[in-house]
This record gives sequence, C-alpha cells and structure tokens, in this order.
Amino acid sequence: MKAIRFHEFGGPEVLKYEDVPEPVLRKDHVLIRVKACALNHLDLWTRKGLPGVKLPHINGSDVAGVVEEIGEYITGIQKGQRVLLAPMLFCNHCQSCTNGQQSFCRQFTVLGNMVDGGNCELIAVPQVNVIPIPDSMSFEHAASVPLVFLTAWHMLVSRAKLRQGQWVLVLGAGSGVGSAAIQIARMFHCNVIATAGDDSKMQKARELGADHTIDHYKQKISDEVKRITNKRGVDITFEHVGVATWQESMKSLKIGGTIVTCGATTGYDANIDLRVLFAKQLSFLGSFMGTMGDLHEVLGHVFAGRLKPVVDRTFPLSETAEAHRYLQSSQMFGKVVLTV
Ligand SMILES: [Zn+2]
Repeated sequence: MKAIRFHEFGGPEVLKYEDVPEPVLRKDHVLIRVKACALNHLDLWTRKGLPGVKLPHINGSDVAGVVEEIGEYITGIQKGQRVLLAPMLFCNHCQSCTNGQQSFCRQFTVLGNMVDGGNCELIAVPQVNVIPIPDSMSFEHAASVPLVFLTAWHMLVSRAKLRQGQWVLVLGAGSGVGSAAIQIARMFHCNVIATAGDDSKMQKARELGADHTIDHYKQKISDEVKRITNKRGVDITFEHVGVATWQESMKSLKIGGTIVTCGATTGYDANIDLRVLFAKQLSFLGSFMGTMGDLHEVLGHVFAGRLKPVVDRTFPLSETAEAHRYLQSSQMFGKVVLTV
C-alpha cells in the first residue's frame, strides 16, 4: 500500500510517499481503509523528532474510513461501515483503563505517535477504537473531529468543570482546538472571548460563537479582557499557545480563575509569578488528550450537529509535505486534512 513515511527526523522534505507492507490483521483487530486523516501539531513534532518514535515512521492520529476486514473475534462491526477512529491506544485492562482513565495507562499513546498512524491506505486497530459515523458526515469532516474535540472537551468540561454563564478566554481561535473550544463554551451558554491573528480569523471566530474577539498581534490581550469584562477577568483561560501568550493568559483571569493548558506551540519555558498564583487564588490545570468517555460524549454532540467540524483545507496524501508546510505557517482556520 501507499503511505507517507519518514526514515529520518527533519523538515517536511523527509516525508516520503512510498510503498510499505500492508498491516497483518490480528484476530482481535479491525482493518480500516483510510479515506481521510487530519493533521495535528503533533505530526510536526513527531516529524522533527520525539523520544520513543521508531524509524521509519508513519504519522497520523485522526482517521476516518471504511471497515475493510474484521478479525475472527470481532462482533458488532460490519465490513463496509463508515467509521472514525479514537486517536489513542491503551491496554484496556489495567486499573486506569478499566476506571475510564485511559490517558493514565502506562501503555497509553496517541495513534501515530509511538505507533504508526493513518497517513496511509490501510490501518489495523483494536475494536474499541472503531466508532461508526452518520451517513451524512463526510470523511474529511469526521477525520477533523476526534483529537481536537476530545482535547477541548476534556480541558473545559472534565478538567476545568465549565459551567453555564462563565466567561471563557480561548487563545488561538484559528487552531483546531481553539475552534472546538469556542463551540463547546458557546454550547454551555458561556461568554466567549477568542483571540486570533487577523480580521478574517476574528470574523470566523465570531461566526463559530465567540461573543468578543481580540487580535493577539495588535492588541494586549489582558487589557482587552479587562475592558470587555468590566475589570472582572475570565473564569477560565483555554491555553495551548505557550510562552508567547502565557503571561497575558494569566493576567486575564479573575480572582479564583482557572487556566487549563494542553500545549506549548510557541515554547514551553513559561514563568509563573507565585505571588499572583497564591494572592489571586488561581488554579493551574494540565490536560492531555482525554478519556474514551469524553470522546463518546463529545461525538454525541458532533453527530447531533450541535458542534461542527471546521475544515480549512484538504490535500491529497501524496502532498503531505506541502500540508505540513501549510500547517506550520499558521494560515489556517480549523483543520488541515489529508484525503486518501
Ligand atoms: Zn491500561
């Protein structure tokens, strides 16, 4: 089969469109013919080199496709079903997994991180990963959902305990997680302030449900938040940008506010003023992926149309290197998706 594989870490040029062996189907696995696979920043990090990634490697965490073949032990799934894949692998029998905390499992990994992912034509996964999608949903839309909606839901609902009517500041509306977070906060009838890098992205953020927008290149985020909230500050800051916005994200919190973060796209070496942390009684929460329960819960809202996948642009699988360059340039609003 064809796949995008890299044999060394480096820039987009290391991504090779080449023939690789087809996966051998285990009796307890399901073989999926990949139709679409969304990109994430994780693909860029993995390509540049992360500990534990074995070469050669196939990226790809967010997969949608059709069931091609089922293992002998599989029941409840039919050949030809349209599905998306849960973007994580876990042992499914340890204490954490059976307690519903899959991301605490010692064997936990993101699909396409420590194991080969979906930048290819065929992928074999455990049945627990295979989730049917509505007929009305395109593969491009389905592939753009799992990782970012799972991450944003886990951050806001499971970690930060989002409640109706709260003020929420969403950093980087143009990113996949940002566009998911705006919609989730809106669904909870929150007051949403979103930041973006230009007028057209701010307009799109408002169309997704942001009540207020801030140009994070031209305006000082915390000053604008103070103005918009009448000096109160926000209940929750949704962070994933890192060093470039961290101080402003902290300053935008109300007394007793919560900052929840899932990433450090612009750098991880951020400072925390401990005086502000204790005097303002802030809560700092880390979040990574989410649980299978979170995924099923958020997918219920997506399948019902209450949350909408945001696809910026698609590229054919053979042009994955170009898609990586595009994602790196941060021009997108929403997801960049490979079609297979
Ligand atoms: Zn486990």
